[in-house]
Amino acid sequence: MKKIFIICDGMDFEYTNAHLDELPFISEMKKKGTFSPLQSVVPADSVPSWSTIYTGLNPCEHGVLDAIDYLDAKNNLKGDYSWLQGKVFWDKISSSGKKVLVVNPFMAFPAWDLNGLMISGPVFEGGELSISDESKCEGIKMPEMGGITDYPKHREMNDFFQKTLRTTQEQFEVFEQLLKKDSYDFAFLGILTLDRMQHFLWRYTDSTDVTYVKKSNLHNSILETYKLIDTKIGEIYNKYKDEFEILVISDHGHGKRCEKTFYINRFLIENGFIPNKSLKKRFIEFGKNTYLSFLYTFHIVSPGINTLKKISVLRKLKNADYGEKKTNTAKISVPNFDGVNPFGGIRVNKDMFDSTDDFIETKKSIINKLLLLEDHGKRVVEWAKLKEDIYNGSKSDFYPEIIYKLDNNYGVERGLFGKRKFGKSYFHEIISGGHRWYGVNISSESNDMKSVLDVFDYIMRDYQ
Ligand SMILES: [Zn+2]
Repeated sequence: MKKIFIICDGMDFEYTNAHLDELPFISEMKKKGTFSPLQSVVPADSVPSWSTIYTGLNPCEHGVLDAIDYLDAKNNLKGDYSWLQGKVFWDKISSSGKKVLVVNPFMAFPAWDLNGLMISGPVFEGGELSISDESKCEGIKMPEMGGITDYPKHREMNDFFQKTLRTTQEQFEVFEQLLKKDSYDFAFLGILTLDRMQHFLWRYTDSTDVTYVKKSNLHNSILETYKLIDTKIGEIYNKYKDEFEILVISDHGHGKRCEKTFYINRFLIENGFIPNKSLKKRFIEFGKNTYLSFLYTFHIVSPGINTLKKISVLRKLKNADYGEKKTNTAKISVPNFDGVNPFGGIRVNKDMFDSTDDFIETKKSIINKLLLLEDHGKRVVEWAKLKEDIYNGSKSDFYPEIIYKLDNNYGVERGLFGKRKFGKSYFHEIISGGHRWYGVNISSESNDMKSVLDVFDYIMRDYQ
């Protein structure tokens, strides 16, 4: 059957399931078609997950791991995503002679020639759209597309919400206009706004959040966004259900971002896996964390960070030392794997071990110690695995030897704060929504997809 395929970045299974009463299209699909959880990749980030959805390759096969760091707006990567051209599902469909419509595909920018029409927005910065065939868009006013452009502060949040809601609506409307203008065998729409809304608005909507904003007219903002998306897709379904399967998935879920941190380097020092850091480094780290703790207590993390960035020695410390060096001579080290989020990675450098047995035993020992880790008598690590037990592929070098997942309320912190193994996540005040492992699989047909790794094959089955 021909397909209309929509990716809603960050649509969460648990959240959707809890609000089905207010989402009529999705609840209808639950009865007539499919509504089930869809596991993301490890780590649950947009760039590796969309790359997997587009190509069917796992992260150790496509080798793209870049996470979007919402706390480091100015230094956001301007990655080269030209490798996607020719490898994505809509290219395969197009080259089999079918006509495709592709609107707002994340990362796939600029648009390229194909049998049909492709419209993309820039990956991380605002700017002009790229359209493969302008003649097909005559008379249509294009909305904003592409990646993140704003980092709203508290006082700008209302405007941000209204504007982002409007953009979402316009993207759906333009997609429908284009769909009506021509006849297509396959149509794809990317919606990135839901993820953005959840990152910034979570603490306005969740009364269990430590930074919950009591007085606000944004308490329903996230649900409103879900409802708008449900309505718009419902309209498409009603018009096209006889001709097309309507398939809606997300690249990962979304929920409250971790409120606690796990000091991984302190854990490794305590267990004798790495030597203690120098006194000077520990002293600077202690100062930085004490300052952040102070800002957090007075709810001024956001303005305070700017002061922190101006203190050059601290800025240097933020970016150096704990990151991955080009030539890694450490036996065991902690690269930035997923920012301050529940997925963590540990590098164990085989070249620095005397024997393979020693290398294997050390990895086992770290995993066992991680699994036993407790905070106030509760286990903190959901699982810890060797990379080869997660993914195999020719580009697996960038993937740390050990991967673990913390409970959703903990994030990995690579700095040190005295002898603490656990602490508070100071940045929660700025970014209160965080990714979850399970997104959604919604369809007007029944399908058995369990993971984003299954999506490419499922789509291609009908276009061979
Ligand atoms: Zn995403």
